[in-house]
Amino acid sequence: PDEFRALGHRMVDWIADYLATLERRPVMPPTQPGDVLAALPDSLEDTAPGWDAVFRDLDTIITPNLTHWQHPGFFAYFPCNASGPGILGEIAGVGLNVNGMLWATSPAATELETRTLDWCADLFALPDFFKGNGVIQGTASEATLAALLAARGRSRSHRQPDTDEICVVTSEQAHSSVTKAAMIAGIAAGPEDLRHVRLIKTHPDGRMDLDDLRRNLESSPPPRPVMVAATVGTTGTGAVDDIAGIRRVLDEIHPDRPVWLHVDAAWLGSAAVCPEFRRVLDGVEHADSLCINPHKWLLTNFDCDLFWVRDRNALTDALSITPEYLRNQASDTGGVIDYRDWQIPLGRRMRALKLWFVLRHYGVEGLRAHIRRHTAWAEWFEQQIRRDDRFDLVTPRSAALVCFALRAGDDATRALLEKINTAGEIMLSHTAAPADGRYTIRFVPGSPHTEFRHIVRAWEVISRAADAPPDQVRESSPKEPRS
Ligand code: PLP
Repeated sequence: PDEFRALGHRMVDWIADYLATLERRPVMPPTQPGDVLAALPDSLEDTAPGWDAVFRDLDTIITPNLTHWQHPGFFAYFPCNASGPGILGEIAGVGLNVNGMLWATSPAATELETRTLDWCADLFALPDFFKGNGVIQGTASEATLAALLAARGRSRSHRQPDTDEICVVTSEQAHSSVTKAAMIAGIAAGPEDLRHVRLIKTHPDGRMDLDDLRRNLESSPPPRPVMVAATVGTTGTGAVDDIAGIRRVLDEIHPDRPVWLHVDAAWLGSAAVCPEFRRVLDGVEHADSLCINPHKWLLTNFDCDLFWVRDRNALTDALSITPEYLRNQASDTGGVIDYRDWQIPLGRRMRALKLWFVLRHYGVEGLRAHIRRHTAWAEWFEQQIRRDDRFDLVTPRSAALVCFALRAGDDATRALLEKINTAGEIMLSHTAAPADGRYTIRFVPGSPHTEFRHIVRAWEVISRAADAPPDQVRESSPKEPRS
């Protein structure tokens, strides 16, 4: 214990130093494939023993070859944010290292999870039927797969013969995890199997086109849809599907056969902590399930996906199996939740601890401030793009996500992105515009280490890299927008 205590203090100091010095590092390393393998001994017997060597290797082999997702200049993909409270909650969780597969194997793990999910349901103003029906999944991909298994199970138990050929419906802009879930569930033969994963066309901004949804469902012979996956905040452009509209179309076409409606709000759902952004979840009362990832934008370390279902029995019927060795009195009473029945694996970490630490530390207003800062900065950034006639705003800004491109064309935009990312001060990523496939750069702040000055600097870097005339670059001390 004494050795652990001393090394633990050293480790926390190391993490604190890492976070404090992030800004001095390139966001993305210049690592070539095989570099890290080459730096690691072939055999464990060749490694130097002792903790000094471990810390040295951390500093010389590991961190220089990482992409620093917490870096203040990280604006790529969607964020994968962490926070002090999240890190400490994670430490507490791994220190305790319980397996909360059953209520009986760690009652506090289960009941803390139920309570924090209910707090979050209030935080996001979710409908009451989600209360008591929330669970933490590792990722949105797992939540979508769990939703699909529940949907298929429910449709089987509802008079549909087992042999029916079934499909999943989602939009062309939905995350690939929807198709992957269909592949894992054995519904789709592969990524190209468009018979079993129907991809509905979208509007130019990336929203599902409900006319195409209607056409597709009306004209469709079997396979029969078991689940429609709507997206709140598409990965490419942050577009928001019309949840109520999708339900309307489903009810029109399948009035006698309820189709499961899953809402994937992995990134943008977090914005609903702010009353002014709650509209992103408009219509969620029509959903059968919903997932939101606090590990993307709500200060909770990876991995933490919040997953709610309207009817928990549909989920547990699909995922529950009880061998003799898991039988216990509490489960037999039916009065407790066994979260193993709500997920794919049996064992589970106590992820609710880090979420609980975050919720208690920041409180409602702290969480709202976090979302508002990033959104206000993105709005400022959007204005710079709009004012600069070298650039186009490709789609309307979605909360903190700005999608832009050079008017000079795809090759120029691609070259700009490469130039910026190679320079290492900031990192951006790209997508293909839903309307025409145009090569588009995405800018999305999300790290709690980012300050307004980093946004200003990011714009300078982008503007210079696009060969801005000097007077456009020089506007370097703008006032921070009010969030
Ligand atoms: N859904 C959406 C809309 C996403 O943007 C992403 C990832 O960015 C995912 C799902 C997958 O998330 P996860 O890594 O939690 O499975």
